[in-house]
Amino acid sequence: MRSACFRCWPRCDDLLQRIMVRSSPWPERRRQLAMTTDQPYVAVVGSGPAGFYATQQIIKKAPGCRVDLFEQLPVPFGLVRFGVAPDHPEVKNVTTTFCQTASSPAVRLLADVTVGRHVTVSELRRAYDAVVLAYGADDDRPLGIPGEQLTNVASARHLVGWYNGLPGCRSPVDLAAEHVVIVGMGNVALDVLRLLTASVDALAGTDITESALAALAESRVRHVTVVGRRGPLQAAFTIKELREQIHLVGTSAIWDGYPFHQLEPLLPDLPRPRRRLTELMVKSARSPRAAERRTWTLKFLRSPLEALGTDAVDQLRVGVNAMDGDHVVGTNQTELIPCQMLLRSIGYKGRQIDPALPFDAARGVIPNTDGRVHGAPGLYVTGWIGTGPVGVILNTMSSSFAVGKLVADDLAAGKQCDRVMHPDELVQIIRERGARPVGFPDWLRLDQAEEERGRRVGKPREKVVSVDEMRRIIWG
Ligand code: FAD
Repeated sequence: MRSACFRCWPRCDDLLQRIMVRSSPWPERRRQLAMTTDQPYVAVVGSGPAGFYATQQIIKKAPGCRVDLFEQLPVPFGLVRFGVAPDHPEVKNVTTTFCQTASSPAVRLLADVTVGRHVTVSELRRAYDAVVLAYGADDDRPLGIPGEQLTNVASARHLVGWYNGLPGCRSPVDLAAEHVVIVGMGNVALDVLRLLTASVDALAGTDITESALAALAESRVRHVTVVGRRGPLQAAFTIKELREQIHLVGTSAIWDGYPFHQLEPLLPDLPRPRRRLTELMVKSARSPRAAERRTWTLKFLRSPLEALGTDAVDQLRVGVNAMDGDHVVGTNQTELIPCQMLLRSIGYKGRQIDPALPFDAARGVIPNTDGRVHGAPGLYVTGWIGTGPVGVILNTMSSSFAVGKLVADDLAAGKQCDRVMHPDELVQIIRERGARPVGFPDWLRLDQAEEERGRRVGKPREKVVSVDEMRRIIWG
């Protein structure tokens, strides 16, 4: 294998090779020529944490390898930009590493290209030695209860996308509700609870969109109830998020409906992280703060049964549960919780982007073993589309590093897709289909414009929320 010169991609000899590949009239000759380009090429689909961490590992472990990073939006970074809460800027620092990876001459960002629309996974497998699917989970999981279609029943995903400037979530959120119920008790639910109860002053210096900030300034929300199926010992949120909410200025918890004192004797035997989280709840329930301007409740052991209302939702009927060991069991009791807005926060869900791909529709994941897609050599999956919507960026990093290493090991062992064309030929076809790929330097133009807009209003950035406007700024 020739040594790779990263400074000039495409290199002259590589260019010559491609001209020969493209001009050869014979399919078999074209195949042979495509196969003889010396360096391996990998396509990574999705530029969130999973895509970036897998890419970082591939170029580290497979020297000479080149990675094309496909992204459906004109902007990179996935949920780091569109999911992580605006008041958690420290989490977004991971983009510094992502930018280093994207700046490597071995990596080419191809944003504003949708796999499944502009190009299929099967086509990628004909142009790359390996294809890594890292396209996350960006669909909603419905509650599946009567009344879910009522006005003011929405997904937490929409609300998160709205305050973070996700282009598909631009329709305004009506915050005229005084009482909001969030179904689901993970960290996303706690993010939404915090954003709905925080003072606008606390959010003004963040990268929240101006339109969301203006709507929150007019918000009439007074109380938020977060409903969870299981008990406090099974809560899925983490201590950092709960502590932040407990200390949030201008808000206070109402710890009713659960006998927290009964948990005290169990504390010594709990594993350390669970013990610390439970201690925090027990302690806060024992010494509640005086009622503040906004209040909130964690309602454990409740399952949503029906959203009630004429046009808009005005109550949620829930079933009361009990824990039998680790199992949730229903009782015959039900309760009504008043609410003028109902948000479901029971997890994001992956989509099938290519009918040729194996897909577990119930779980919303691509079935795989440690990242290898079953029955498809050279095809890998990582991040939330492989694991489901679980874990924080650190978990995604570990699994994506492992998959990146697997790809490098397989390439070294000659286990790869049966490549018959050069990636640049495919990119040309993608262009002919109407896509105009946004490279990393192109994205930097938008990045700078957003930072400049932000500076004018005292924020780290003011996000552009329309895809058309993003393209206008990128292409001038
Ligand atoms: P994603 O980040 O979703 O990236 C997938 C990428 O693929 C996206 O850019 C998407 O546009 C792209 N894509 C999708 N379909 C296609 C297609 N057809 N073609 C091309 N590209 C496509 N973790 C923390 O550590 N701290 C936090 O504070 C935190 N807050 C969170 C808040 C919310 C609301 C959510 C939902 C998650 C949060 N997480 C947090 C978890 C973290 O965001 C995930 O662990 C991580 O983003 C998963 O990475 P991913 O790359 O699998 O998915």
